[in-house]
Amino acid sequence: MNPAPPVTGPVVGVLALQGAFSDHLERLAAIDVDARIVKRPEHLDGVDALVLPGGESTTMSMLLDTSGLRDPLSDLLGDGLPVFGTCAGMILCASDVLDGRPDQHGFDLIDITVRRNGYGRQLDSFETDLDVAGLDAPFHAVFIRAPRVERVGAGVEIVAEHDGIPVLVRDGTCTVAAFHPELTNDTRLHELFVAQLTGN
Ligand code: GLN
Repeated sequence: MNPAPPVTGPVVGVLALQGAFSDHLERLAAIDVDARIVKRPEHLDGVDALVLPGGESTTMSMLLDTSGLRDPLSDLLGDGLPVFGTCAGMILCASDVLDGRPDQHGFDLIDITVRRNGYGRQLDSFETDLDVAGLDAPFHAVFIRAPRVERVGAGVEIVAEHDGIPVLVRDGTCTVAAFHPELTNDTRLHELFVAQLTGN
């Protein structure tokens, strides 16, 4: 008789074309999630959810094309693959991007308008403590040349704001953050994302 298969949780892919993917892998490993790098289309096999990390959305857009990942990823995301997009990843998920390059293209997964590098020069990078719906203590958030959310569509849930501007929003299985939740040891936002996959 074969032994019973081990009980496994969801497999989370982390797009690893460029940017801050290794910190996401570390945060997910810290909460015992089976996290895998996604660099090529075959890496999507068996993936239950995806993280789109921070980095440079223009470069990521180009690498999505050269890697052959754009079409298979679009299909999976269009079919509802849960996604957590952070910073550049937020830009890739947004329906409308201001100050983008004409040749950058995203996945149009959530009805928001974001302005690339929208916090301007003085606030290029900053850190702040956020009140996040669902967390009972503030989350220390690191913003690096962050996109600024300028419009949130009906039905998009605002999970956290900074100075009255949404910085963490969600629509169904698409969650996007203007900041970098992977750059501190606080795993609570990764835990919330994974909890949504397992229904816990
Ligand atoms: N400014 C970057 C972009 O436009 C995003 C910055 C980041 O991910 N830290 O893609």
